[in-house]
Amino acid sequence: MRLRRVISSVLLLALTSAAQGETGPVLVIHGGAGVIRSSMTPAIEADVRKALRNALQAGYAKLESGQPALEAVAAAVVVLENDPNFNAGKGAVFAHDGKNKLDASIMDGKSRRAGAIAGVETVRNPILLARAVMEESPFVMLAGKGAEDFAKQAGITLVQPSYFRTERRWQQLQKALADEKNPQASTDGGTHKHFGTVGALALDKQGNLAAGTSTGGMTNKRYDRIGDSPVIGAGTYADGHCAVSATGWGEFYIRTVAAHSICMRVELLKQPLAEAAEYVINKDIPTLGGDGGAIALGADGTIAMPFNTDGMFRGWVAGDGVVHVAIYPDEDESGE
Ligand code: ASP
Repeated sequence: MRLRRVISSVLLLALTSAAQGETGPVLVIHGGAGVIRSSMTPAIEADVRKALRNALQAGYAKLESGQPALEAVAAAVVVLENDPNFNAGKGAVFAHDGKNKLDASIMDGKSRRAGAIAGVETVRNPILLARAVMEESPFVMLAGKGAEDFAKQAGITLVQPSYFRTERRWQQLQKALADEKNPQASTDGGTHKHFGTVGALALDKQGNLAAGTSTGGMTNKRYDRIGDSPVIGAGTYADGHCAVSATGWGEFYIRTVAAHSICMRVELLKQPLAEAAEYVINKDIPTLGGDGGAIALGADGTIAMPFNTDGMFRGWVAGDGVVHVAIYPDEDESGE
């Protein structure tokens, strides 16, 4: 029987500003819940922490200067997409056919406008295309060639597919293909869950929320499989009270409508954000056989970051402007 470690890393921040009845800007990010502790090296850890800090600084600068939550989300996600350590943008995993097929979505809490794209192969920053779909088209979700045609029209930066080729991800695909032929020899149970999806949530000075998520999906995916990340309500959701970005085994996040479920538990069941996120991520999804994590942010500045894997790359900046990053569950989640 498979041993499942259910680890909860939940953080509640009762912001001073929130207690005073004001909302201070808050930014929360993740770089995926696919951390395998035994395969981490000090060099990778240092690199990832640096990238998380850079993303937080890029996004928080927008919030501090009074820009909307959506701007901060896009800015933070772009930094993570450009970093090969994460399974999004530059570091996207390979599909079965040896191609990188990227998915992303973004949502504005106040208006509940949303944009999403799936299966694009030449878009450097998928989060920017998702945003263009939201702002410049009458649609919410575009896929494949149509999404790329729209990207051209919208003036989104395109790259050759080879831009996304990294040796590390290529070797992960080779291993997945080899394990498929010889499952007994697999050293990781054949899971190949490189959950390095990235996401960001922001609460701006006006008290509005936004959420965004970007991914290469799952290694060795076939048949143009699409996971939860571009599915509004599953991998990404934001409304006036709550914002969520998820990372994990996408099929289970779609089946539980994970991001929306967390927010509805808060709104309709009046559950505290941490309790709602804990239930969906660490109870409902594992009960069905899935795993992963999520970040959640309330309009009062409350943050929750549950996960049930070895670790989740994550970071946040709240009203005091201090940058925090963490990877493992037992880590001191204090500022650096
Ligand atoms: N949720 C993503 C997917 O299933 C994978 C991840 O989180 O890394 O496509």
